[in-house]
Amino acid sequence: MDLPHSTHYPAAHSVEDFRRNVAAVRDRIAAACRRAGRDPAEVRLLPVSKTVPEARIRLAYAAGLRELGENKVQEAEGKAAAMADLADLRWSVIGHLQTNKAKLVARFASEFQALDSLRVAEALDRRLQAEGRGLDVLMQVNTSNEASKFGLPPDDVARFVRQLPAFSALRVRGLMTLALFSADPALVRPCFVRLRELRERLRQQAPQGVAMDELSMGMSGDFELAIEEGATVVRVGQAIFGARDVPDNHYWPEARLGRQPGPTLSST
Ligand SMILES: *Cc1c(COP(=O)(O)O)cnc(C)c1O
Repeated sequence: MDLPHSTHYPAAHSVEDFRRNVAAVRDRIAAACRRAGRDPAEVRLLPVSKTVPEARIRLAYAAGLRELGENKVQEAEGKAAAMADLADLRWSVIGHLQTNKAKLVARFASEFQALDSLRVAEALDRRLQAEGRGLDVLMQVNTSNEASKFGLPPDDVARFVRQLPAFSALRVRGLMTLALFSADPALVRPCFVRLRELRERLRQQAPQGVAMDELSMGMSGDFELAIEEGATVVRVGQAIFGARDVPDNHYWPEARLGRQPGPTLSST
């Protein structure tokens, strides 16, 4: 069976549409949890609002969404500033960060899921100390063994983790990955297995203050597989907001070029 194709995702243009789409996603989460013998309360749904304009995000908020993931820091920061009146809305940055943007993240984000270098850790920690804030962070791991330039190679993560206690504003929570970009579960699932197995190994050696509980894995097309393999956070955009018409290599420049057109390429 192939994974779902993004053109099946209806766009949400009203509060009702958002309620319906979120309910459908929660049903899929619950079904996957049942198959895996897991409690749905163990799986956090992080809606991903990249490319979605402010007016529609406000509808999503009215439908009850209180946290949003964004892949690009500047887009996220612009939206956070424009919607500062929604005081309980939390922003999670889930895409690669350049050190010169650490300052922005330190200001508005409540979570960063794509930590993959000591330079970024150092820059974030310094900016956070200056702001008097802390930040939940996940390390991004390259589990697909592609020429992706983002994410730590699995073998480097243990050494990386040992350096993190030096950055006291970073609250390390676990690991994040993007699976292989494919509609074939036989290729996607091993990426999720790899992340879970890595977490089990790291748990035994993690330094004090470094938690290894979270596994952020799975998107609209593959989150059931991820849940079956232990995901504690799923990052879901299109199944909530509707199919994107921007090809994903726009959002994963370089990292995703050269991949086969995957389930998230919309043809609408
Ligand atoms: C866009 C994005 C997602 C969500 O993908 P959808 O296909 O919209 O569900 C998840 N994780 C990251 C890092 C993303 O950039």
